[in-house]
Amino acid sequence: MSKLRVRFAPSPTGFLHVGGARTALFNYLLARKSGGAFVLRIEDTDVARSTQESVDAILEGMHWLGFGCDEGPIYQSDRFELYGQKVKHLLEQGKAYRCYCSAEELQSKRDQAMADGGKPRYDGTCRDLTAAPEGRPFVVRFRSPREGSTVFDDIVKGPISFENDELDDLIIQRTDGTPTYNFVVVVDDADMQIDPVVRGDDHINNTPRQILLYQALGYPVPRFAHVPMILGPDKSRLSKRHGATSVMAYRDMGYLPEAMVNYLVRLGWSHGDDEIFTMDELIEKFSLENVGRSAGVFNPEKLLWLNAHYIKSGDPERLGTLLVDYLRSAGIDQSSGPELPAVARSLQERSRTMVEMAEDAAFYFCSEPEFDDATVMKFFTKENRSVIESLMRHLNNCSELTHESIEGAFKEAMEETGLKMGKLAQPARAALSGGSAKPGIYDILEVLGREESLRRLNRSLAFFS
Ligand code: GLU
Repeated sequence: MSKLRVRFAPSPTGFLHVGGARTALFNYLLARKSGGAFVLRIEDTDVARSTQESVDAILEGMHWLGFGCDEGPIYQSDRFELYGQKVKHLLEQGKAYRCYCSAEELQSKRDQAMADGGKPRYDGTCRDLTAAPEGRPFVVRFRSPREGSTVFDDIVKGPISFENDELDDLIIQRTDGTPTYNFVVVVDDADMQIDPVVRGDDHINNTPRQILLYQALGYPVPRFAHVPMILGPDKSRLSKRHGATSVMAYRDMGYLPEAMVNYLVRLGWSHGDDEIFTMDELIEKFSLENVGRSAGVFNPEKLLWLNAHYIKSGDPERLGTLLVDYLRSAGIDQSSGPELPAVARSLQERSRTMVEMAEDAAFYFCSEPEFDDATVMKFFTKENRSVIESLMRHLNNCSELTHESIEGAFKEAMEETGLKMGKLAQPARAALSGGSAKPGIYDILEVLGREESLRRLNRSLAFFS
């Protein structure tokens, strides 16, 4: 595979959308796989709609997902000089022309065309002007060929053809002198030697115009791969109605980036029946040939399943580090309490998200658990008092609480009380956590440690009947 130069070219008008992230991922994988370059280009020529906040949000999303770029971010707003030269070049060659029609004139032409049953398109008034009106503001339009057709063989969609007479004379420079999207995207993709251009299929209609611009500018035309859009479960285009569409919202909901990446890649791409891929496997296995033509449907349950998988198999040290923010967001005071990797280890089997893990970890950080009436009634009985006391004695004999020493203490307490494990574990769990905490009882004791466990058990005795 030759070294590919590919790019992700977001317009900074919002957050990093799930669909954008998937486009970025496909490009990233192609660059890594081929040993080529992944270029990040910020398409901010629409100054009115672009914001720094959005740039930051996109960069944050890319960083979180781990899509490091080799070149960029390159801002189109830094490149106006180049675009200006290219517009001038086309004007000089007669491949573009100045159009002086005002917005009102254009609107009335469009209305008229529609009223006549035609398409609302530019009628070419200024295409062949010989004398330019003095002092009137103008846009620059591309002199689009009126005959023939523009054909391309999309890597994902197959051959696509457009009749040239369907295409308007595109505005390539606005009255304020700023260039427009279709023009700069061509200048940049050519200048940055991008091939193939991999992007969402909402850009298919732009492609023939862009191909004509490549030709007019004397550039080689790259290959295109238009990736199908992502649909919500009801098969309409994925939108807020279906839940969060911002990548970072998923982080906030407790998803791991590797789960998100693994989920995104499967929205449109497949490799047999495989579902779980590490980044290295993706880099090895990904290819545009296996991207399907039809839209991927966003399935939140599958994302959750993948997330649970990655939490379960995650490194407790890392999960513990991540937990800090989630505990903070849950309003849990971490100033004292057990080590976070140990907390994470005790919960990772049972947590589908980091938010769940943080919520389920709350009891570790609550040194004086509250006992509700039901707990007291059910577990804090006379009979159980001797259970707790027996357990305390045997735990007290352990110099340190390890899985083995806890097991030994429970064995002895079972012998002493003649009760089975379940009968011991339930009141102990309630006494230590205030309720039905999720981790196994040995884990709870081990994570809390000897002093804190004994302190909590002892404290609970005051609530027994
Ligand atoms: N800036 C465009 C967008 O965010 C993408 C342009 C392209 O990929 O060609 O939709």
